[in-house]
This record gives sequence, C-alpha cells and structure tokens, in this order.
Amino acid sequence: MREDLQVYNNVLQLIGDTPLIKLNHITENFKGDYYAKVEAFNPGHSTKDRIALYIIEEAERKGILKPGDTIIETTSGNTGFSIAMVSVIKGYDCILAVSSKSSGDKIDMLRTMGAKVYVCPAHVSADDPRSYYQVAKRLHQEIKGSVYINQYFNELNIDAHYKTTGPEIWKQTEGKITHLIACSGTGGTISGTARFLKEQNPDVKVIGIDAYGSVLKKYHETKELDPDEIYPYRIEGLGKNLIPTATDFDIIDKFVKVSDEASAHTARNIARTEGLFVGYTSGAAFQGVKQLVEEGEFDEDSKVVIIFPDHGSRYMSKIYSDDWMHEQGFSDSENNVGAEKIEY
Ligand code: PMP
Repeated sequence: MREDLQVYNNVLQLIGDTPLIKLNHITENFKGDYYAKVEAFNPGHSTKDRIALYIIEEAERKGILKPGDTIIETTSGNTGFSIAMVSVIKGYDCILAVSSKSSGDKIDMLRTMGAKVYVCPAHVSADDPRSYYQVAKRLHQEIKGSVYINQYFNELNIDAHYKTTGPEIWKQTEGKITHLIACSGTGGTISGTARFLKEQNPDVKVIGIDAYGSVLKKYHETKELDPDEIYPYRIEGLGKNLIPTATDFDIIDKFVKVSDEASAHTARNIARTEGLFVGYTSGAAFQGVKQLVEEGEFDEDSKVVIIFPDHGSRYMSKIYSDDWMHEQGFSDSENNVGAEKIEY
C-alpha cells in the first residue's frame, strides 16, 4: 500500500502530480534514460485538467467568476471535457461551441458532464457568424458574468504549466532532466513547462513535436506563416494552422515533424511494450523521440522526459481500431490491435 493513500474532498484535488514512468522496452538500444509524464492520470484523463482548473481559479481569485456564472470555450476535445468537469464541481454553467465535425461520442461525453453544447457548421470561415469562434464570442458578450477560456490566446494556459507541470518534472527528475519533449498545439504545455525548467537549468533542451500539415515548425524557423505548410492531417490536438500566442517560440529549441501513420503505429507500440494505453499525440511525441535518436540527439547521460498528453480510450474508433487503420492505409500486420481474437 502506498504511504500517501488518502481521502479526497472532490475529484479536482486529484488534478496534477501525475507520475513520471520510466520507459524500459520501447527504448531498447537507445542511449540515455527515457521517462514519460503520463497525463492520463489526471481525473479528466488529460493534461487539460491543469489549465481548466488554473484558469477558472484565477478568474475566481480576481472576482470575475461567481457561483452560477458561465464558462465558455470552443473545443470538443480534452479542454472541453476538463472545463465541464471543473464546472460540475464548482457550480458553473459550461457552454462549449464545437464544430459539426466532432464525433457524436465526443459531444455525448461533454453533455454527460453537464455541458451545454452548441454544434456549429464545420465548413464556414472563422469570421462567419455561425462558426464556433463567432458563436462563442457572441455568447460571451451576451451572457453577463461569463468567462471565455480562449486557450490558444490565453497566457494563463502557459502559467498553468509553469506552476505545475514544470516543478513536478524538476522534482521527479531531481533536477537531472536534460531534454523535454512535448507536443505543441496551443503551446501552453511546452511553453510553461520549459519556462520553469530553463529557469532552473538553461541547458535543458526543449523540443516541440509538430504535425505535417501544421505551420509551427516552419514559423519557428522563419518567423513567417507559410500557407503552403497547411493541409489536412489526422492527429488531433497537435500542430496548428495559425500562430497561437500561448506558444513561447523563443523558449523552444527546435521542432520535429511527425506523420499520422508513424505516430499511430508508435502509440500502439507503447501499449504493447510499456502497458501504457495512451492517446494519438503520445504516439506522436514518442515518434519524435525515435526520429531524434536517429539524428544522434541523445547520449549515455541524457535524461529525456516526454509528455504523454492523454488517454487511449478517446481513440478507440481511430488508432485503436484495425478497421480505421486499414481505411487510412495504415495497416501493418505487426501492429494490429489484439494479436489474436478467438471467437466461439
Ligand atoms: N495532445 C492532445 C491530445 C491535446 O488535446 C493537446 C491540446 N491541443 C495537445 C497534445 C497539445 O497541448 P498544448 O495545447 O498544451 O500545446
């Protein structure tokens, strides 16, 4: 039994303090030590619990939010779920404006957590009054006492990780971390965590993971948004077609781009080799590590921390479905889910 077993007053007390778990098998023949910060251990199963709690509590502290007020955001993803969860406990109304592209499962998950969901047409431009951005903005203006989280353009997204994820990793590695590898979407995770770690030791190398089809890596290198970099891709939560102000590009040493297919296979491999059932972007993050190993980035003294942002259960009908993988042209017999399926 763990020494620190205790009773919690509510589920929010379990946010953060996620485990750092050594990767032992998938890293065979790699130089150095590799540790995963497994954010699926948050009660909402993702790293976004941290920013939802932090941003909401900052608004409370500043007197902006009072019980019964409304919290608004534009996401059907992890952030939406985390905001809904925090709102349940704290007694806020939660409104999420989501794209009609969002799966029915995701919308039902949010509604289960008490969120009111506005489903907005996917194929309209961002400035169309029906787009989820505009719907959220309008509701924010109309509803008195509402807070718009706006995670891509909210500095508090960075602060949440500066105050929690960074110090946890520093403590868990006893200050010995040499590399931080993290996916970049809003950029809050990598920027806040890196800011804290580099303040402790400026030599910690910070490497962001970006998707093919996203502008972040090229923007980091050129400071220009190249529209040719933008095309559809499948990994959700990683990369972007605009430049979020929640990303501190100066603190990131470099970006690595990963493909949809390699990231999907790598996520499946993490489950098989380490027993960790993690999401698509965790596969992407470790795929980035594999590419960095090939480039000779690490040596025997490297202590590499990789952030695994969420849990695999959200991707059952995607990367953990053999049918989905096959439809994408990603099938390969070595990595199929369930090596054997025996039906009586
Ligand atoms: N992985 C997943 C699954 C996510 O939902 C997000 C958030 N968009 C990220 C990674 C990237 O985190 P951040 O937004 O902090 O850059």
